[in-house]
Amino acid sequence: MGRKTTHKFKAEVSQLLDILVHSLYTNKEIFLRELISNASDALEKVRFKATSEGSENDVAPEIRITADKDAGTVTVTDTGVGMTRDELMRNIGTIAHSGTAELTRMAQEGKESLDALIGRFGVGFYSVYMVADEVTVTTRSIEPDAQAIIWTSDGRTDYKLQELDEDLPRGTRIEVKLKEDMVSRFANEAALKNIVNKHSNFINFPIYVADERVNTVTALWREPKFQIKDKQYAEFYKFLTYDSEDPFDTLHTSVDAPVQFNALMFIPKSGDDPFGMAREQRGLDLYVRRVLIEKQNKDLLPEYLGFVKGVVDTEDLPLNISRETLQDNMLMRKISSTLVKQVLGNLEKMAKDNADRYAEFWQAHGTLFKAGYMDFLNKDKFAKLVRFNSSASEDSKGLASFDDYISRAKDEQKEIYYAFGPSREALGLSPYLEVFRRKGVEVLYLYEPIDEFVMDALRDYEGYTLTSAEHADMAKLDKFEDLEKKEEAEALTEEQQSSLDRMMARIKDVLGEAVTEVKASRRLSDSPVCLANPDGNVTSSMDKIMRVVSK
Ligand code: ADP
Ligand code: MG
Repeated sequence: MGRKTTHKFKAEVSQLLDILVHSLYTNKEIFLRELISNASDALEKVRFKATSEGSENDVAPEIRITADKDAGTVTVTDTGVGMTRDELMRNIGTIAHSGTAELTRMAQEGKESLDALIGRFGVGFYSVYMVADEVTVTTRSIEPDAQAIIWTSDGRTDYKLQELDEDLPRGTRIEVKLKEDMVSRFANEAALKNIVNKHSNFINFPIYVADERVNTVTALWREPKFQIKDKQYAEFYKFLTYDSEDPFDTLHTSVDAPVQFNALMFIPKSGDDPFGMAREQRGLDLYVRRVLIEKQNKDLLPEYLGFVKGVVDTEDLPLNISRETLQDNMLMRKISSTLVKQVLGNLEKMAKDNADRYAEFWQAHGTLFKAGYMDFLNKDKFAKLVRFNSSASEDSKGLASFDDYISRAKDEQKEIYYAFGPSREALGLSPYLEVFRRKGVEVLYLYEPIDEFVMDALRDYEGYTLTSAEHADMAKLDKFEDLEKKEEAEALTEEQQSSLDRMMARIKDVLGEAVTEVKASRRLSDSPVCLANPDGNVTSSMDKIMRVVSK
């Protein structure tokens, strides 16, 4: 036996452990899901190595779970890649994976309950300390001549490492010494079977609880659609995402040309912070002939469709493809462009068949979706799917498409007008929009900075020019009648005209360099004055964005 050494946990791990140990989180059973998930990852790595390097895989891939009531332990054993001493120190004790780092930060901010956070993120290996007094990890790496090593810790401040002389089989065994009040709950085979069924049924490798095979191991995405029940889809979705709710929408397809693949995709009910940390959790899992090649691949779907979760499995890629060469692979690009068309087509159908349902989708994922203005190849489809609040909506929740707008536009109108503002109330009072209100010309309301990028990128839609209300050509608007006829203003007398000219000159004098010009306008009816941009310039809001960006 090697010498026993003691090592301190890194600070961020300690913080996370502290949160978990003291958490009153009731759904503690998820520790098993996390241990099984790690075992499965370790087995996937063996399979990947075997297929890509042609190395031998002599040991049957499996996960075994046992319980010992008297000792108060649960043990999870896998025949996966195992860990070397270095890997053990790096992976367990030093870093908390990306999800947990975010969880710790958000837990410290205290904005969201810990329960919700733990449920939503995978908390990883450390979650075992919600139920454990002590954990012992015994592992031997797949690396040639690797020595078995044992790791123990009570999850407080440090962990101990010791090399073993025995020649253990490859893989990892995790023995969990349960807290006293957890023994009856978890050192119990029937309970463990239930938990495996609930959270880990779709794991790709056989799981045994005390010699009985528990999970079903079907690649659901390869099954014929008509055989699959909604409940199975929902279970698979929850397994995949850790979402506690059913999926909002499910898209299961099988494609043979131009490239063969099966895809099972889901749209969640609620969206994540579209531009925050959650983006790391995005992406579809890529399989080649049922072998997991890459989790959360970032190339199959563009960022704006990042709300889509799911798996893609193809026969056409070689099994030994490396993750690096995936990026500039022709077939991947074909799969990707087909997937994008399918997702957009599915949304188009939803929008057409059920506008309320589409509005629900839009509330959850619209902000992220709008980043699709960069997808020039699918510009037309994107433009059909994008939604804005509008002066014609009843309230700030109302949504209008460009098609809606056109259906309400005036006969001779060839512009789609939009205005940017902080809120519906502000835009409702904006002097720039008075003329539109007076003439009953609809204006799309833009509240988010990205909206203006969308308008700039699209430029026009079905022959209508997307036009900022600030830049509206008054001559075009003048053609439309006022909704309520007001008395024609009489022409100014010479005296009135000259006093108006003097006033303009005086205002220009006072404002000096701050403005280029001061002029009388017919644009306003209720407000005395407004700021306007010289034609051709960016809108004032875009100008603000540019200034911030260029600082
Ligand atoms: P994540 O799985 O998200 O990476 P975890 O906290 O669950 O985070 O696990 C941390 C790391 O520890 C894993 O990435 C892996 O490298 C290693 N690990 C954990 N369990 C095992 C296991 N059973 N076999 C091999 N490596 C493991
Ligand atoms: Mg894990």
